[in-house]
Amino acid sequence: MILVLFGPPGSGKGTQAGLLAKQLHLAHVSTGDLLRAEQKAGTALGRKTKALMNRGQLVPDEIVRRIAEKQTLKLLERKNGMIFDGYPRNVSQLGDLDDILKKAGAELSLAVSLEIGDGKLIHRLTARRSCPKCGRVYNLHSHPPAKSGACDACGEKLIQRGDDRVGAIERRLEDYHRQTKPILESLRRRKMLKKVKADQPIPSVTAKLTKLIEAWRNDFRLA
Ligand code: AMP
Repeated sequence: MILVLFGPPGSGKGTQAGLLAKQLHLAHVSTGDLLRAEQKAGTALGRKTKALMNRGQLVPDEIVRRIAEKQTLKLLERKNGMIFDGYPRNVSQLGDLDDILKKAGAELSLAVSLEIGDGKLIHRLTARRSCPKCGRVYNLHSHPPAKSGACDACGEKLIQRGDDRVGAIERRLEDYHRQTKPILESLRRRKMLKKVKADQPIPSVTAKLTKLIEAWRNDFRLA
């Protein structure tokens, strides 16, 4: 199964994609994580995209396609399904993803949009902190570290992502409404779009997503 999770920044799609991937033994492809890994490794691509990402701007489609394609083709050889998180982000990237999957003899199965209002997102995102060493993510309101400012798992000093500051968050939300939402209309016409309310505790959202995936699998088996 090939699932795409949509949702504005801060809707919890990264957290949910990680949990579902583990639970369902699917690969997890996050273009944001792949781009941050390039920056951490100091590659030319990482240096080229760093300033754009810190300002909360989208990276050009050709660059994202290149990293998404490489990772997708590699992982589809090993896993029998995957979850995309943060890709595609505009209608042209949806076409790119369809092409990439076609190359691997696969196609999109299901898309789920995590629905939540913008006001809540700014509150959530400005409180997000992450561990630069092991990647754990915290929220100062709902999931704080045991010791202020330090990672529970490895003790590393927690950081705030450059694009989790108010100006960058507003820009990312605007991009979501202007560029990403039109994809949802296209997927609705393809009859593969479901919606889940994301303004709920993490386990409730995971349970709803799991139910939708199981329903899709049952329909698929009957078809
Ligand atoms: P995310 O971790 O998904 O919130 O992504 C963080 C940042 O990475 C975004 O604000 C963009 O700058 C960049 N990025 C991630 N995925 C994409 C994409 N599909 N298209 C363009 N830029 C992206």
